[in-house]
Amino acid sequence: MSFRRFVANAIPGRLVRAFAAPYVAGDSLEKGLAVADRLYRDGGIETTLDVLGEAEKTEAKVTAAVEIYHRALDALKDRPYCTLSIKPGHFGYYVDPVFCAANIERLARCCQAAGRGLTVDMEDTDVTDWTLATYGALKAKYPVMGTVLQSRLFRTLDDVDRLDGLNAHVRLCIGIYNVPGKLAYTNKREMKENLLRVLRKLVERGHYVCVGTHDTLYIAKARALLEEMGVPKNRCEFQMLLGVPREATQRELRAAGYTVRLYVPFALDWDDAVAYLRRRMVESPSMAGLVLKNLAGG
Ligand SMILES: Cc1cc2nc3c(=O)[nH]c(=O)nc-3n(C[C@H](O)[C@H](O)[C@H](O)COP(=O)(O)OP(=O)(O)OC[C@H]3O[C@@H](n4cnc5c(N)ncnc54)[C@H](O)[C@@H]3O)c2cc1C
Repeated sequence: MSFRRFVANAIPGRLVRAFAAPYVAGDSLEKGLAVADRLYRDGGIETTLDVLGEAEKTEAKVTAAVEIYHRALDALKDRPYCTLSIKPGHFGYYVDPVFCAANIERLARCCQAAGRGLTVDMEDTDVTDWTLATYGALKAKYPVMGTVLQSRLFRTLDDVDRLDGLNAHVRLCIGIYNVPGKLAYTNKREMKENLLRVLRKLVERGHYVCVGTHDTLYIAKARALLEEMGVPKNRCEFQMLLGVPREATQRELRAAGYTVRLYVPFALDWDDAVAYLRRRMVESPSMAGLVLKNLAGG
């Protein structure tokens, strides 16, 4: 067991839960919706809702998760400021990729009928090819669909070629998963410089781009790039995670006419939220650092 996994598992669940509070909207769909409503009412901030849960191993659990998304979609009827985000692992990839693709397509069909955005998140590198292939196969039928590219991966600049002709909707972020140095940049500055390169290429190819970072320097650089390239404000947006304190930046972006969207996870069971936070701590040393700093009262 790695040291990070040991530390993450050693922290008592109730402490992880206390730490999770700002990052997780709550333990019901209604709480997720209440956060989305408040963000929009108070500052015009839009949201993408995510039901917490990853790497489900049984068909029954996957089916339950998919049903929650269908319930969420129904509840979004009068909320044009919300989209949905899903994870292949949560939708059954580890049970059977064919089952997973069918689950994604069923939700995509309903989202398309409702005019609701649906983003397929990007998980670990064992799912990258599959996610891009599935997105490529479904996007033409369901234009509301989007996906994610992780700029830490060396392959990502080339992956943009796979999106040619799709009029893709891409969230671009550095990625949370720990990837070995033979496949990815290990230095954050390099990941973020690559984010700018990938952003430029996505814009050149005419895709809708969502810049997903909290680094104010790189938000400013991305914004300067979008403005230099003349990207209309209805062809790009900035995205951040619920709980990361970036209110002033979000207000500035809104005042300049950009869409700002927060990723709002909610859990139906706090155990899922605790598991999510523990996994994030293992995957991301900086997240583990933030947790430890919090626990030390720093
Ligand atoms: C909307 C959205 C969706 C995402 N979807 C995916 C996805 O599908 N797949 C994927 O692999 N990754 C995803 N990510 C995760 C992302 O790639 C990074 O792991 C995360 O955003 C931190 O990277 P950063 O660019 O903000 O840079 P960092 O250098 O990590 O962070 C910059 C600064 O932001 C603050 N900060 C960042 N994260 C936190 C935190 N959790 N708590 C407190 N402060 C923090 C810190 O002050 C830090 O110094 C998503 C991120 C966002 C914003």
